[in-house]
Formats: sequence, structure tokens, C-alpha cells
Amino acid sequence: MRAILNFFKKIIKGAKSEAAPVATNGKIYSRSEHTISRSQISENALKVLYRLQKDGFDAYLVGGCVRDLLLGREPKDFDVVTNADPEQVKKVFRNCRLIGRRFRLAHVHFGREIIEVATFRGASDADNNKQVLDKEGRLLRDNIYGTIEEDVWRRDFTVNALYYNIKDFSVVDYVGGMDDHKMASLKLIGDPSTRFREDPVRMLRAVRFAVKLGFNIHPDCEKPMHDLAGLLASIPSARLYDEALKLFLSGYALQTFEMLRHYGLFKVLFPATEASLSVEEDGFPRLLLIKALENSDNRIALGKTVTAYFLFAAFLWEPVQILAKKKMARSEPEFIAYQEAANEVLSRQVKSTAMPKHITMAMREVWSLQPKFNVRLGSKPSRLLTHPRFRAGYDFLLLRAETGGVDPEIAEWWTRYHLADENEQRKMTQPPRNASATKRKRTYRRKPKVDTPSPDA
Ligand code: ATP
Ligand code: MG
Repeated sequence: MRAILNFFKKIIKGAKSEAAPVATNGKIYSRSEHTISRSQISENALKVLYRLQKDGFDAYLVGGCVRDLLLGREPKDFDVVTNADPEQVKKVFRNCRLIGRRFRLAHVHFGREIIEVATFRGASDADNNKQVLDKEGRLLRDNIYGTIEEDVWRRDFTVNALYYNIKDFSVVDYVGGMDDHKMASLKLIGDPSTRFREDPVRMLRAVRFAVKLGFNIHPDCEKPMHDLAGLLASIPSARLYDEALKLFLSGYALQTFEMLRHYGLFKVLFPATEASLSVEEDGFPRLLLIKALENSDNRIALGKTVTAYFLFAAFLWEPVQILAKKKMARSEPEFIAYQEAANEVLSRQVKSTAMPKHITMAMREVWSLQPKFNVRLGSKPSRLLTHPRFRAGYDFLLLRAETGGVDPEIAEWWTRYHLADENEQRKMTQPPRNASATKRKRTYRRKPKVDTPSPDA
């Protein structure tokens, strides 16, 4: 036991493992040789970096933030790496929480901003027994602390492996990331096929970054993507759901969708949707999904919110329709057919991307509101207006109307109706005179009395 502890202590202190691939010849770009200025860096991230440095530790920004800063973009978040281990980090910051069981990370809290501080990770070399791979080459465990020269190897793309050093404001590059950055090229560190096998999610990340940054995927990485796309199916569905959110709520959903399909990745994430795309209806391709993706991107561009459930309801609308129609052809009543189709489609989908219950519930609601929009007389329309999902259901109706799924006149009516004042709304839902007379007659007709047998019968 003591031997094992000493072994770990040695690693934490930064001793190199013999079999580990260690980056040498890191190229240092001094402050005058790159464009990153401290004014672009969040104040809280700077505080963390300076504080670690003051306490005698090395501290760098790394990953997406360095990549984005070099592009002059505002990073989504700032990730810090250091040679301090998590317990040491915790001692430096009062506002710090340690998270993660497999690999401990420190979260330093500043109000709503969290700066993630990771300790350098150890080598990724299958021979050194610290890295555990499954039979497909997937990385199951790599939870050892290391040095910066080791840390660099476990990162995915060269442009994500640039380190901004707070000590002298230089950028340290072990893997040619600066050159790739200039070439706008996404290149995996090491052998692409091995790295995709280690973690197939890297294929999704390649697409996400290519679209978001306008970078190309290096040809050496493209080929294995076509071949290995299926490996994504081995990734836990909860992780794939998280990735799907990042992919489709990014503001570039349409382009992302097209690129994912190109590499054969989309069908792993949304198999039923992919299958429905090849089924044309009356010779028309199914456009609702495309329109939903486009609208979602436009909303994000305008600073409006988008919800995951709305988009995923659009993804699975066609599969639900197709299945429901099959059931109706087997003489199931419409309402039941749609309910069952929704249940079946959702329970299959969560095996690929584990959507949480509140999301699938909301999707069901959006779907089940659709037939209700057909009723435009009486008290039902005003009740529908108070439904918590009315807005989403109505937006979905507009989407269907725009893409030929429902009579546009119905959507126009609902647009007028929900904007009208109460008086106008009452008029709009009043049955025409003749119809009301018939209705009244029917309403007041007494039911035939059921004869109760007389006691002496
Ligand atoms: P984003 O702008 O989306 O935050 P990012 O590159 O910062 O992009 P993160 O998921 O925040 O992405 O990861 C931070 C860094 O951790 C990455 O830049 C990369 O160096 C490393 N990393 C993340 N995920 C992986 C992975 N699956 N394989 C290897 N390295 C990874
Ligand atoms: Mg990040």
C-alpha cells in the first residue's frame, strides 16, 4: 500500500513515467509573438492564475480559451492548469470546491463565474498501465497527475493544446498548435485513428469546432471519421445527450447537422430521424427539421433563447408521424396511435441520447397540442391559450404550416386569435348562427329515460 502511495506522490510531484510520451522541444511564443492580451482574459481567471503563481505553483490557461483568444473571440469559459494538486488548490482558495471522482478538479467560484482548475494529467501511454483501454481502444481510465509535457498528450486537437503562461505571458506549444491555428486546421495530436478510438466523442468535437471556428478538419483525421463513426454508439447515452446539446444549441445547428450527416455521425445520435429523412412524403422531402434548425440559429443570432425540447421535438416529429400512420393503418384510433408512437419513438431515442424526463415530457406536450389547434370553436381555444406550453405548441404549429404539414389558414387563425382582445376572441370562437342553433337543439334534447323496472313487474 505504502509503495502505491509513494508511486502516486511521485507522479503528483511531476516525476516523469519512463514509458510515457513526453513532449519535448516545446516552442515558446513570447508576448510580442502572439496576440493574447490580458485585457481579453476574465478578471477572475487572472486572479486564479496570479494567486497560484504567488504561492509558488505553475499556472497556465489552456484549451478552448487560448484557442478562442488567439482568434480574438470571447471564450465561453477559462480553464486553468497547474502543477498544484487539487488539495493544494483548495488550500489556496477559500471559494473552492473539489469535484469529480475519477479525476478530481477544483472549481473556484466567483459569484456565477466558475474557473476550473485542473492538475496536469499524466501520460497517455497504453504501455505504462495507467491508461486502461477497452477492446475497441476506448480510454476507460487516465486519472494520474503528471507534468505539462505529459498533459499535452491527452488533449485532443493541437489548437486545443496551447498553454498561456502567466509567468511571462508567453504561449507554450509542444505540438505545432500555433501553426495549425494559423492554417485554421483541426488536427488530432498523435495517430488520428488511435485517438478517435480512445474517445469517439472527439469526432463530435471535431465537427463542433470545425463549424464554430470555421476551421477545416485535417484530411488525416477526416478519413478515420468516416470509418469509425459507428464507435460513437459505445458512448454512454447521458454523455451523448450533453454533446448533442452543445452541437445543436450552438447557433450553428443547421451546418452542424449537415456535417454530422456527412461523416455518418448523425445517424448514431438520432437513428430514427436519419431513417425518416429518406422517406419522402408525396415526393416532398421532409423540411420541418431543416426549418427548425434554421429558426433556432436565427433566434440565437438575435439573442433570443432556444429550448432543447423544442428542437428535439422537431427532430422526432417525423418518426412519430410515420409510426402513428402505420398504427392507424392497422385501425388503431388516431389518438391512441399518436400516444403509442410518441412513447415508442422516445423510449428508443433515449438509448442513444439520454434526454432527461422533463425534456421528453415537454416534447410530448408540444406534440399532443398539435391536434388541439384544429378546434377553433367554443371554449376550447381560450383554454388552450392558458396551457403552459401554448407558446411552444403554437411555434411548432407555425413550423408545420411553413413546411406544408398543416393548412396555413389554421396557423394564421391562431396568430390572429392569440393577439386579439377578449371581445374579439369571443367573436372568433362563436359558432356560426345555424351551427349554434343545431348545437343548442342537440344540447337540450333530453336523453331518453331509461325505464327502471317497477317493483311489481
Ligand atoms: P469550448 O469552447 O466548447 O469550451 P474547449 O476546447 O474549451 O471548447 P472543453 O470541453 O471545455 O472544450 O475542454 C477543454 C479542453 O480539454 C480542450 O480544449 C481539450 O484540450 C481538452 N479536452 C476536452 N475534451 C477532450 C477529449 N474528449 N479528449 C481530449 N481532450 C479533451
Ligand atoms: Mg472550454
